[in-house]
Amino acid sequence: MLFLRINHDFAYETEKLVREFFPDEKLNIVTNEPASETADTIESLILREGCWQKYTVRIACGGRQAARESVGDVADGDDAELFVCTLLYEALCAFTGYTPPWGLLTGVRPAKLMGMQRKALGDAGAKRFFIDSMRVSPQKTDLAFAVSENQDRIAALSGDNCFSLYVAIPFCPTRCSYCSFVSHSNDSAKKLIPDYVVLLCEEMKATAAVAAQLGLHLKSVYIGGGTPTTLNAQQLSKVIGTINEYFDLTECLEFTVEAGRPDTVAPEILAAIKNGGAGRISINPQTFNDAVLETIGRKHTAAQTLAAYQAAVDAGFTDINMDLIAGLPGDTAEGFARTLAQTLALQPAEITVHTLALKSAATMVTEKREIVAADTCAMLDHAAERLTASGYQPYYMYRQSRCIGNLENVGWAKPGFGSLYNVFMMEELHTVLACGAGAVTKLKEDGVNHIERIFNFKYPYEYISRFTEVLERKDKIFEFYENKQGS
Ligand code: SF4
Repeated sequence: MLFLRINHDFAYETEKLVREFFPDEKLNIVTNEPASETADTIESLILREGCWQKYTVRIACGGRQAARESVGDVADGDDAELFVCTLLYEALCAFTGYTPPWGLLTGVRPAKLMGMQRKALGDAGAKRFFIDSMRVSPQKTDLAFAVSENQDRIAALSGDNCFSLYVAIPFCPTRCSYCSFVSHSNDSAKKLIPDYVVLLCEEMKATAAVAAQLGLHLKSVYIGGGTPTTLNAQQLSKVIGTINEYFDLTECLEFTVEAGRPDTVAPEILAAIKNGGAGRISINPQTFNDAVLETIGRKHTAAQTLAAYQAAVDAGFTDINMDLIAGLPGDTAEGFARTLAQTLALQPAEITVHTLALKSAATMVTEKREIVAADTCAMLDHAAERLTASGYQPYYMYRQSRCIGNLENVGWAKPGFGSLYNVFMMEELHTVLACGAGAVTKLKEDGVNHIERIFNFKYPYEYISRFTEVLERKDKIFEFYENKQGS
């Protein structure tokens, strides 16, 4: 399909909008060329004459057409971009008969935008902006608003010179077919684990020294993956013990270990986490339907999830998150509702509802498996209704590319719960110092919307073989904070 963008430079937003309506079409982007008479075409055009501008959008596809046109004296810049996008959006809605619930919003952080608009326009003005200007549905507007309000409480726990620590364990027992993450599950990767743990602990020691020298205050720790509980209890104790020994945890408000896969949650693993002082864990069912688990290659059963959850409760954990995925192949709206009901019966502190993302690296995509679309939108609507009725509040939200229907992932929590790390990180409230393969340190200047990133090597074998460079890159943290003080 041709996408003609003529006389304007609003490439990023207009292309994202077109891809939202035509996710499976290969777009051939052309600028300043006349439309072909024969090809399926979307044309977005601005004609300027004196101070007048004429905006035109034409869609001709499969023998059908839709068009929108407007004339005005809108200036260049953000206003003109919104004007062009709105016209394009209206034409795409008219042509496809589809109205995306998030309207014109293509960004990954709707709650962050809501927070900014609340500051600029007040609560009512921010909601009006979402509904009237961004064409977001009233339901999603209320969701973004609720998340933004709930995040205010968590944001107040951050402050100047704060940071969180992220520790990456990029190994999993097996690979789920929807996974696009750099996680390593084959036997040769697992042989790297002992060396990996030793070097990871070295990196954490070096990072702790940097944080201490800079006088940074640690607010939260998150050990994520992969599946950190792929490590054995001794290895996990070593990682957690190193954090306890070398970082100053006196101001640390939360310590999470993502147990993730229920088939890794053995009693000795839970004991290692608990004895190490980590109070928050994640045990992720994704679904309680065994047939769907089989389809997505999760290699565990619903019964294992229930047993893992009970073992965690017996071990004394009170802050447990459970992840679910809406839109899994083979699932239905009724099946998802049953999964949610079973999860609610357990009463975990948090339930995170993800939308299935069909990333190009996922096995189910690379193997071109037939994916029967579930009614994901209805699943999310049902989840919002049931979770709200059950006393959970939305506190964390993000969207990612290739999510079915461009829908969202939302963390729901009982009052007084909710992952601080997730909010600190997603809303970019302070620096995240990250250790391990694939980890990305994000350096944040207080009070300024400016982030600098330091990337670690992606794969464990690279991380191990080039470890000297990993340590050398810690100097960039000093450089960042020195420049900050000088500015
Ligand atoms: S457990 Fe998570 S990180 Fe590991 S393969 Fe499955 S989806 Fe990927």
